[in-house]
Amino acid sequence: MRIGNRQFGRQRFPLRNAGFRGAGKFRLIIALVIGGFALLSYCSSATYNPVTGEKQYLSMTPSQEIAMGLQAVNQMAAQHGGLHPDPRLQEFLDSVCQRIIVNSQALETEWQFECHLLNDPNVVNAFALPGGQMFMTYALFRQLETEGQLAGVMAHEIGHVVARHSAQRMAKAQLTQGIIQAIIMGSENQGAGQMAGMIGNMVNMKYGREDELESDSIGVKFMTDAGYDPNALKGVMKILKAAANGRSAPEFFSTHPNPENRIEKIEEAIRQQFPDGLPAGLKP
Ligand SMILES: [Zn+2]
Repeated sequence: MRIGNRQFGRQRFPLRNAGFRGAGKFRLIIALVIGGFALLSYCSSATYNPVTGEKQYLSMTPSQEIAMGLQAVNQMAAQHGGLHPDPRLQEFLDSVCQRIIVNSQALETEWQFECHLLNDPNVVNAFALPGGQMFMTYALFRQLETEGQLAGVMAHEIGHVVARHSAQRMAKAQLTQGIIQAIIMGSENQGAGQMAGMIGNMVNMKYGREDELESDSIGVKFMTDAGYDPNALKGVMKILKAAANGRSAPEFFSTHPNPENRIEKIEEAIRQQFPDGLPAGLKP
């Protein structure tokens, strides 16, 4: 739908000029309704998260999150060559995941945790779906040197689940989408819509980085609670960095902060969470 003429499309302040004409005014009202509705539904969805201690904006219930994750398991597996065929490796991964879950605050949550080892020998990655379905590729699994490193990766993924990062990102995407629609609707200038889209991407990207650091911090806590040395997570960062320098998984770094920075933040999290030093006898 294109209302108005080219002359107005070139104005620097199309919103101000739109108000002078009937069609422009209508357009502006619709834009305000769309933008206002997006903002209102976002702000009215505030929920307290007992693990992170934060107020979060979410557009899904926990059971919806769990159902969404479960629905996507087969598709995720198919994208990475299916599940790994060796049951001993899967059992080992399960045992480490279980040890973290039953010894940390994760046990008090309602999420349906499951760890899957994917067959993919090339892409170095691990990720979590909403609700508790978590994955590690064999390409990453085989590069890990200690059980503590494996625990570090999975504790980080458990961190994404309990902090409800996916659900938060979805709610933010809905808000961004609503505001972009409002800007496009309120303006005849297509450039404004493109600009709005770019700003939206930048905002969502930034939250992605913060999510990673928060998951590292939760990971440090949960893996230590389960008896693993959180310093092992630093070793994981070195492995990820080496993988990024090679040809595998550069896409992992498009949304993740660089590993050097994460190592510093992990050290900071350890100092903050264990000011009197780490407990004795942790597994490396
Ligand atoms: Zn992550």
